[in-house]
Amino acid sequence: MDRYNPPGSRWKLAKRTGQMTHSALRELLKVAERPDVISFAGGLPSPALLPSDRIKEVLKRILETDAVGTLQYGPSEGYTPLREAIAEQLSSTGSTVYPSQVLVTTGSQQALDLLARVLIDEGSKVLIEAPTYLGAVQAFSQYEPQFEQVKSDDAGLIPSLLSQSQVQEARLLYTQPNFQNPTGRRLAPERRRQLAELSLANNLLVVEDDPYGDLVYKGGALPSIRSLASDTVVYLGSFSKILAPGLRVGYLVAPDDLMAKLVQAKQASDLHTAGITQRVAYHAFRNGFFASHLDELKVRYSEQCEIMLQSLELFMSPGVTWSRPEGGMFLWITLPTQLDASDVFVAAMQAGVAVVPGAAFYATEPQHNTLRLSFTTATSAQIRSGIELLGRIIEASLRQ
Ligand code: PMP
Repeated sequence: MDRYNPPGSRWKLAKRTGQMTHSALRELLKVAERPDVISFAGGLPSPALLPSDRIKEVLKRILETDAVGTLQYGPSEGYTPLREAIAEQLSSTGSTVYPSQVLVTTGSQQALDLLARVLIDEGSKVLIEAPTYLGAVQAFSQYEPQFEQVKSDDAGLIPSLLSQSQVQEARLLYTQPNFQNPTGRRLAPERRRQLAELSLANNLLVVEDDPYGDLVYKGGALPSIRSLASDTVVYLGSFSKILAPGLRVGYLVAPDDLMAKLVQAKQASDLHTAGITQRVAYHAFRNGFFASHLDELKVRYSEQCEIMLQSLELFMSPGVTWSRPEGGMFLWITLPTQLDASDVFVAAMQAGVAVVPGAAFYATEPQHNTLRLSFTTATSAQIRSGIELLGRIIEASLRQ
């Protein structure tokens, strides 16, 4: 019996559907949306901070001044002024990016899918940091790769653990160097250099996924891996975390010799990203509201992160450890090894606090004593009381 074609099914499904799974996280988030729940589960921007009024003004202006351009079909590569603006911004903080190297995508999630389509065959080796972004595992899995996890610690993925055969055989290595989802960690400068060197020396394609890099609260920005190895890195960015995820505007920056195939895959997928939301992203970026909004998010999220860190100090039992993010939206808790985070999750849900068991964030071999917490959507008071409740639940589990 095929896993993808159960007996009695009416349709003959493609083999690759056997690799497609529901995102456990999306199911979980539905529960966490109940108004009586304090949610640390989502990976969402704060609803209170979505810039809806400013987006409304921009939309009005776009339709008044460029209705036909906005509503007509557009180029698959993306709205040219937006590509130019992205290239200019990235060039000002790292090595040169040309507009021709920028492909606008329908969220950076689509960039992951396009890359997988262009690069992964059944059985292809894919190096992926552990833990990692579940949506990347989902996107890659459709094309049936063989995942090899790369361990990480507080300073991010550990390049020295990669063997020569791994770097030579892998089709790609996927990493998030800044305030990673799920851990909130960032890759140390020395490791960025090591990874860039390995990548250049072995033609190892590094997929650098960076939706959280702008949300830096402490320590300033670090050089992107792309700025150290532009010839062998595909860089992914997104407007979801700063402007609004509902716009579905992201982008990738790829070496010239990968671009044509990525554009062909994009054409086959959706012709182009919606003209209207690309223009919203462009105008927000160009007229300064992106920058001021980003400043506001940084103030609010860093306060919320600080309150969560202080609350953890107050309410967590000895033996529980956590990451100390310098940016982003997430914090990672490691429980004593005898605890299974899914039991903690069930008890926490019963008490009205939603967290995500960390096992969901591994491509293979999950670590069961971990939890992901987001500090962006709960209020300060909710963070304090939610962490106090979580602390009590963990303490009770340790006593059992
Ligand atoms: N990469 C990472 C690491 C993410 O956390 C997310 C969203 N949760 C995405 C990519 C996809 O974001 P989007 O498609 O909204 O740009």
